[in-house]
Amino acid sequence: MGAAEKTCPACGAEAVVDGVCGRCGYAQGEAHRCPHCKAVARIEGKGPGVWVCAVCGGPRMPGGLGGSAAVKALAEERAAHAEATKKRLGAWAWGVFAVVATLAVALAWPAALVGKILALAIAIGPALLAVRAGGAVAKSAKEADEAHERALLAAAQALAAAKEGGITAAELGARLEMPEERADALLTQLAVHDRTRIDVGDDAEVRYSVAPEIRVGELLDEEEAASEDVGEKKAVR
Ligand SMILES: [Zn+2]
Ligand SMILES: [Zn+2]
Repeated sequence: MGAAEKTCPACGAEAVVDGVCGRCGYAQGEAHRCPHCKAVARIEGKGPGVWVCAVCGGPRMPGGLGGSAAVKALAEERAAHAEATKKRLGAWAWGVFAVVATLAVALAWPAALVGKILALAIAIGPALLAVRAGGAVAKSAKEADEAHERALLAAAQALAAAKEGGITAAELGARLEMPEERADALLTQLAVHDRTRIDVGDDAEVRYSVAPEIRVGELLDEEEAASEDVGEKKAVR
C-alpha cells in the first residue's frame, strides 16, 4: 500500500487501515458502503458487536463483513427496529389513555351496579391494550436481536473463512469488538450447524475454519432451524 492510500483525505493523517482512518474514522471504498442508505460512510460502535451507520443510523457490520447474508439480516434487523419504534408509540398512547380513563372513572364512580361494570370496562380496556402493545414491542425487539445475531454469524463465518488455518475465539472477539465468550458462542453455533470445522492445534488452541465448498449465502435458510436448536439447548440446561 502506498503513502497515498494510507493518507486520509479527510484529516490528512497517515492512518488509513483497510479503508478506515484510525484518527478521524473517515471511511473510503466499497467495503464501507452502507446497505441501507448506500453512502460510503464510517460506522459507530454501539456496544459489543453492535455498529450503526454514521449517516443513517442503520445497523452495519464493519467493512461489510458477512457479505449478502449479513446484508439481508441487517435489513431485517432495521425493519424490526422500525416496527418496534412504531409499536412503542402505540403502547405509550394506550398507556396514557389508560391513566386518563382510570382517573375519569375514579372521579365519576357511578352508584348503580351496571354503571360500575361499565366504568370498570372503560378503565381496564385501555390498560389491557397497553399491555398487549407492550408485548408486541418486545416481540419486534426480539426479532431485531435475532436478525443481528444472524448478521454476526455471517460476519464470524466470513472471518473464519478468510483466516488460513482457522480463527480462535479470542481473535474473533478482537475483530468483532466483543468478549471472547461471546465470540466463542458464535463460533460454537456455526460449528453445531456445520458451518465451521473445529481443529485443535498442537498449541491446544481451538480454531474454527470454513471448508471452501461452504458458501455463506446458502446457509441463511438454516437459520430458522438454528434458532430452534438453541432454544432447545437452553431448555435442557
Ligand atoms: Zn482521517
Ligand atoms: Zn447508512
